[in-house]
Amino acid sequence: MVDFDLFGPEKVLQVCDKKIGLNGFVVIDNTVLGPGKGGIRMTPTVSVDEVSRLARAMTWKNALAELPFGGAKSGICADSHSISQIQKAKLVGKFAKMLKSVCPSKYIAAPDIGTAEKEMAVFSKTIGSLNACTGKPAELGGLPHELGSTGFGVSIATKVAAKFAGMDLSNSTIAIEGFGNVGSFAAKYLAKSGAKIVAVSDIHGMVYNGNEGLDVEKLIELKDSKKSVIECGNGIIMPKHDIVSMPVDILIPAAIPDLIIGCDVRSVKAKIIIEGSNIPISPEFEKELLIKRGTIIVPDIIANAGGVISSYIEYIGGSEKKMFEMVEEKISKNTELILKNSQRNATTPRETALEIAKQRILEKSHQASTETIKATALACSEKIASFNKSN
Ligand code: NAD
Repeated sequence: MVDFDLFGPEKVLQVCDKKIGLNGFVVIDNTVLGPGKGGIRMTPTVSVDEVSRLARAMTWKNALAELPFGGAKSGICADSHSISQIQKAKLVGKFAKMLKSVCPSKYIAAPDIGTAEKEMAVFSKTIGSLNACTGKPAELGGLPHELGSTGFGVSIATKVAAKFAGMDLSNSTIAIEGFGNVGSFAAKYLAKSGAKIVAVSDIHGMVYNGNEGLDVEKLIELKDSKKSVIECGNGIIMPKHDIVSMPVDILIPAAIPDLIIGCDVRSVKAKIIIEGSNIPISPEFEKELLIKRGTIIVPDIIANAGGVISSYIEYIGGSEKKMFEMVEEKISKNTELILKNSQRNATTPRETALEIAKQRILEKSHQASTETIKATALACSEKIASFNKSN
């Protein structure tokens, strides 16, 4: 069941083709600021409800990053691991064909779980526009995922939050949950800034070295050779969920949703949490952490916006250099803004961020309707003048 409110969704489209087994949908949540932007999720269980919540998160993320995009997301029900590359291309190609009326004017796609640059090449070629999606291969003007824009943005949010808390980053300790694209690049950039990464986890477990810290280069080598971080050989191996309660200054969730739930609130020791993953803590537990533990939390819609900012740079044909500059500029400005405002207004950083996002959308919407009224009034007065003249 999709919830509707003042902000959207504007359109929910479902497309099916029994012959090739396509069942897909797109939720265009809000296009006040520009065409809805959001990835294509390909999983066996993806639902309209899941996609609509993700589309709404994109509406807020894009408004906060001040990008000329609205929010959207789409889904194709299929098991991307068990179908062939040819079948995947067939599904994505047919999906694109059926979305031609809204893409790229109202919807711009991107990779998400189960889709990557190969699928984006099929999508944009079928639509017949390079603006139909971002995350394309480099030969089609794409900015590679391997640049680590999201992890870089997370490292920027961490620096700003540490400064806000009066913490010296080069004397601080950090734990990172998940060592994929987001976690490994956040670790790389933070280690470069002098922070000590003392705990890291992946699907197999967690490794902790509170004294010397972990060797980030070595961890990246392990990840690149498809090995687990627990094989690094210079720390204590512990269950992966224990990362939540490690005695560190900063905790960076960068893997699963709902990492921190009710019973974890008491055991969190980090003074700062930077949300690299999507919804690692529900708004309710974020509030509890702030009230009971005084934890400073930079929410996902601010901290992990590096990916969508990089998509925008690809969309306008910008360079890698420009991408890093824009991620740094927008994420540092927004992190500082929401932390200062939430302190002043005694609200959570997420509540502050949502307030700003809503205000930006409503202002633009008001401006657009005022312009429409003005244009209509002008057209009417011109018609009356010409009628009077001819009579
Ligand atoms: P990824 O697939 O590259 O890496 C995921 C990592 O998490 C892997 O190291 C995996 O072993 C680990 N992991 C999985 N389950 C775990 C568990 N239970 N405990 C600890 N580790 C676990 O994924 P990613 O691209 O790094 O994305 C991570 C999160 O960030 C996701 O929630 C994603 O939606 C979100 N995100 C990613 C981007 C991006 O640009 N990649 C942008 C915004 C948000």
